[in-house]
Formats: sequence, C-alpha cells, structure tokens
Amino acid sequence: MRTLIIGAGLSGLRVALDIEEALVLEKSQRIGGLLDIYPDLGIEKFYHHFFEFNTELIPLLKRLKLWRYVRWYETKTGFLVNGKIYPLNTPIEILRYPHLSITDKLRLALFVRECREMMKRREILEEMDEIDGNEWVKKKCGERLYQNFFQPLIESKFGKDANRISASWVIGRVGMRSSRGFRGERVGYLKGGFGKLVEALAEKSDAEILKGVRVKEVNFSGGFKEVRTSKGCFKGEHLIVTAPELVRNIKWQKTSCALVATEEPVLEEIYWLNVQGIPRIGAVIAHTNMVSPEEYGCHLTYFVSYTGELDERFVRKVLRDHFQIRDVKWIRIENANYTAPVYERGYLKNIAPYEEKGIYYAGLFSESNYPERSMEGSIIAGRKVAEMLGSERK
Ligand SMILES: Cc1cc2nc3c(=O)[nH]c(=O)nc-3n(C[C@H](O)[C@H](O)[C@H](O)COP(=O)(O)OP(=O)(O)OC[C@H]3O[C@@H](n4cnc5c(N)ncnc54)[C@H](O)[C@@H]3O)c2cc1C
Repeated sequence: MRTLIIGAGLSGLRVALDIEEALVLEKSQRIGGLLDIYPDLGIEKFYHHFFEFNTELIPLLKRLKLWRYVRWYETKTGFLVNGKIYPLNTPIEILRYPHLSITDKLRLALFVRECREMMKRREILEEMDEIDGNEWVKKKCGERLYQNFFQPLIESKFGKDANRISASWVIGRVGMRSSRGFRGERVGYLKGGFGKLVEALAEKSDAEILKGVRVKEVNFSGGFKEVRTSKGCFKGEHLIVTAPELVRNIKWQKTSCALVATEEPVLEEIYWLNVQGIPRIGAVIAHTNMVSPEEYGCHLTYFVSYTGELDERFVRKVLRDHFQIRDVKWIRIENANYTAPVYERGYLKNIAPYEEKGIYYAGLFSESNYPERSMEGSIIAGRKVAEMLGSERK
C-alpha cells in the first residue's frame, strides 16, 4: 500500500527518493517549495547557497550525479550603516570599521569563536533554548556591542518577534555564518541553480507527484491514514507531513524577496550586505557577486525583508535612494508565509518529533532544522523519516 507525502519541497522529495510507492501531494502548481526557481531564469526565488560543512547535502549531490555542477565561491560581506557601505572581510577593513571600538571588535571575535564551539554541543543548545537571546548577548558582549551590532541584525531578522528569540538561535546563527577567511566566506552553488537538485530528486524517485492538491485535513481510518484535500480524499498506509501549515504550536516567520535585474552591479564585490536603517530591508544579496553575471546577461540582486511585504515601487525607491541605481531591467517579488520557525525561547519543546501517533513528520519544524533552518536540515529530516519507514517495513 502506498505512502502519502504532503509537500514536494526538499524534505518531501528527499523522503520520496528512498521509499517505494509514494504519492506526493503538493498544493502549489510547482515543486521545490522554498527552493523553487523562476523557470524562465533558472534562479531561485529566494537566495540560496550551501557550505562545505553540509555533510548531508554534499553526498546527496554526488548520489544524484550533480557534483559536476558544484562551484565554490569566496563571497564578501559588508554592512550598510547610516547610508554608508563598509566591507568587513580583511583585518584592515575590520580595523577601519568605525562603528565598533577595538575592544568591541576583539570581544566580537571571541564571541564568534565561542559560538562556533557551543554550536557543536547539543546539550548546550538545549540548555540555552530557554535563555533570552538578547539578554545573553548583552551579558556576553556588553551593551555597546549589542546595540551597535547584534540588536539591528536581530531586529531586521525577526521584526516584532526580535525580543522573543533564544540564546541557542544566536549561537546557531553566529556559529553557522562564521566560516570566513580573510578572502571571504566560502559558499557553494550549483551551476544552473538549485532547480537542478529539485528536478533530480523528482526524476530519481519513483513517486507520483500530484500538483495543485492542498491537504486540508488528516484522519485515521481503519488502520489507514486518510487526507482530505482540495481534490478529494486520498488513503495510504503511511503518512508523512512536510508542510509547515499542518504542524501546530510553531510561530512562523514570513519572508518577502525581490529579485532585481540591472545592467550595473548594485554592490561592488560584496555578496551579502547586512542593512541597518532602510525600513523593511534586512539584507541585500548580490547573487552575481557570487556567480558571474555573464551566466544571466545582467546583474541579479536580492532584496530581502523578514518584516513586511515588498512591492516594486518601494524596491525601486530603495535602489534609487540608497544605491544610486535608476536603471532597472525588471523586478520579481516572491512572498512566503512559512519560511522559518521563530526560534523563540522554549522552542525546543515544540519541535515536531519524526513520528507521533503513527504519523511521520519531516521539515522546517524538525530537530535537524534547529537552531537554524537550511537545505541540509530538511534533507536530514527527509532521510531520517525514509529510514524509519524502511526499518518498519523489514
Ligand atoms: C529566504 C530564504 C533563504 C534561504 N537560503 C538558504 C540558503 O542559502 N542555504 C540553505 O541551506 N537553506 C536556505 N534556506 C532554507 C531552505 O530553503 C529550506 O530549509 C528548505 O528548502 C525547506 O524545505 P522543506 O521541504 O522542509 O519545506 P518547504 O520548502 O516549505 O516545502 C513544503 C512544501 O509543502 C507544500 N505544502 C504546504 N502546505 C501544504 C498543504 N496543505 N498541502 C499540500 N502541500 C503543502 C509547500 O507548497 C511546499 O512545496 C532559505 C530559505 C529562505 C526562506
């Protein structure tokens, strides 16, 4: 008897890869979930890259024969503060940065090192999950470093929920984004985009994927699992939920991402710009300061907001007023409601177990996506559930 999988994002497709007779029900007309692309452009609707420490994603890319498409890039980071862009990569650039004192810079370096170590220890993350993230940073780094550095970053990421986040989220986020050398942060990308990963997963699995089918309700009926959808009822022996909207007790973060095409680069060299002082905009990610603009015939830059929806007029104004760009070829905007859990204090209690009452769960809400969500985390969750089902069948 078949297995029903709700959602054809990375988690759902990863489960489907390793099980037989799966039927995937996907509410959208496209597969890929948050990793979906603009099909005519071959680029992700939301910026994506991966890291050398993604020990689950990398073997999967090899297994799917996608390794030949992997390219590594040294990407540069910067900060926009009071209308001025500061690259923050080399020791000289860091020393020259005027908004932190030497003492604060040293404290920051020590804090980053400590987070990197703490991130590796699950028991520490669990312990820190109930601790107030903002207060913890203040205690460790001092009020000035908190106010001039961490507070704006946390606020642009979580908006009105900024004061709810846990110390373990801070540790995970700081630890994850600290694999930088002086030439930049080393990140991986697939030539042709991550749409290749989504396609390969769908092609290599035997699953049937039904698009445009929204699951509304899940029931147990006589040993079988039944789901009620926008296109009727489906039954299966097993049921795997990967759709965030069907998981209770989690507060979700929304994201709005504008992809802007220009003749001129929006940023010089910098790939990832943290932004302070432009309402709604949390970061600017210059995709073509990672991948060559020649691949697309233009420069492509993401403007991302975690605190409100973007619209074309507003993005054009931001480009004009803050980046002196008037000539815009086109802008596309994607909004999504379930883009990351709000990693608030006590979040760990709400993490969905991989299996509960005979239903399996894999997705953004899984343990593997804690304390920060990633492709890696969703792939781990999908693989774990596939293994659990496999071992049940034996
Ligand atoms: C802005 C942004 C940037 C990111 N950047 C990176 C990055 O650089 N590196 C990285 O590793 N990760 C990144 N991520 C995270 C990564 O995209 C996700 O972890 C991963 O794609 C999530 O996959 P998923 O299958 O778990 O969830 P989703 O992609 O959310 O998939 C869930 C699927 O379920 C479907 N669905 C929902 N409700 C229903 C329903 N009721 N019935 C049927 N189907 C339903 C959805 O349409 C979707 O297809 C980023 C995410 C965002 C939002």
